[in-house]
Amino acid sequence: MKTIVVGNGILGQLTALRVAQAGTPVTMIGDPERAGSATLAAAAMLAAFGEIDAGVLASDAGRMKLEIGISATREWGPLAAELGVPLHTGTFVLDAGGLDDTVRFDALVAALVEYEEPHALVKPAQVPGYAPLRPARRALRLVREGWIDPRAVVAALDTALAAAGVERIAGSAARVLGAGAIELADGRVIEGTHCLLANGARLTSLLTASALPLRVPVVLYGVGSTIEVASASTHTACLRGRGTYLAPHADRIVLGATNVVVAEPVDDAGAAAKILDTAATHLDHHLADAQVLRVTTGWRPTTADGYPLIGATSVPGLVIASGTRRDGFHLAPVIAEHLARLLHGERGDPRFRPFSPEREVQSPPR
Ligand SMILES: Cc1cc2nc3c(=O)[nH]c(=O)nc-3n(C[C@H](O)[C@H](O)[C@H](O)COP(=O)(O)OP(=O)(O)OC[C@H]3O[C@@H](n4cnc5c(N)ncnc54)[C@H](O)[C@@H]3O)c2cc1C
Repeated sequence: MKTIVVGNGILGQLTALRVAQAGTPVTMIGDPERAGSATLAAAAMLAAFGEIDAGVLASDAGRMKLEIGISATREWGPLAAELGVPLHTGTFVLDAGGLDDTVRFDALVAALVEYEEPHALVKPAQVPGYAPLRPARRALRLVREGWIDPRAVVAALDTALAAAGVERIAGSAARVLGAGAIELADGRVIEGTHCLLANGARLTSLLTASALPLRVPVVLYGVGSTIEVASASTHTACLRGRGTYLAPHADRIVLGATNVVVAEPVDDAGAAAKILDTAATHLDHHLADAQVLRVTTGWRPTTADGYPLIGATSVPGLVIASGTRRDGFHLAPVIAEHLARLLHGERGDPRFRPFSPEREVQSPPR
């Protein structure tokens, strides 16, 4: 038995680690530059409830995704400790007062109450570091939701993969010949017995080149950026406002994000100015003049209904993980456990049933 993992984002990395830790040899294929990596662009907020949209709990898929998210929040503590990366908790969600925001905020409060998630409604003026040009109407604190440094997680996972004996191939998969054979762009063929395709927003282009007997919904590129700025004032909590958020680290603040959903990747022109402007308006006016240290653009793997594609396919031994859009970093520990079980021929986590990679997708993005 030997597993091939295509893709070196957090889903490929963490699944490869879990499979190798269970004693199965793993070969992971990925570009060391990680072009378009959503994982490196992520603010890495670890949010189950913070990601809730109005109406989501009316569907089984929406409920399952929230429940997977709640499990992921529990699993991040031990995972961060295993990787030796500090985890921060304490998130404030602001209600800017527009119709969409208010409906979303009410849906969030209802879900927190229904799932008995610890939270507290607070006055916006009491939110630490909150100094927007346009103050919010309401605010609440999510006690358990937090954030982590994505680059530190990726680096720690690379170290753990080496320690677990995972073979790394620097390159790009050009075609999937079957679950047991991947042809690289340079013509080499990598052989195994099982295969995970975890190449993010590039899934559709790889499947199109592969001519497998699979009907997998199209994955689009949700092109988006975060920026890192020098600390303009002291922030200790993650703040989430209208189309903007802020995640503080010891030496910098991560601000996000832009999003344009397209069939082929495009440049995210002007991202830094847009992000700074929205963050200054809705979170902290000091950020208007903040020094930009880095802009990172990644491709959120995005399906038409906004739900992920996770699980086994009708090609025996071939497993897919994509379409995680805006919260795949947070869901990664639960997704990786599920995928590792499937790759070992075991039954997976039944909560992933609505996200089968060969399901029908009809609705427009949520
Ligand atoms: C701006 C932004 C902010 C985000 N913020 C958050 C957040 O706060 N919290 C959260 O939970 N999620 C967030 N997300 C979403 C999260 O980043 C993704 O859901 C998650 O990282 C997806 O991981 P992945 O491993 O599937 O994909 P990726 O990280 O995109 O990894 C795929 C990897 O596969 C490689 N690859 C592509 N094609 C091939 C090929 N043919 N052969 C070999 N390798 C290949 C790529 O180089 C890449 O490194 C954000 C995303 C973006 C863009």
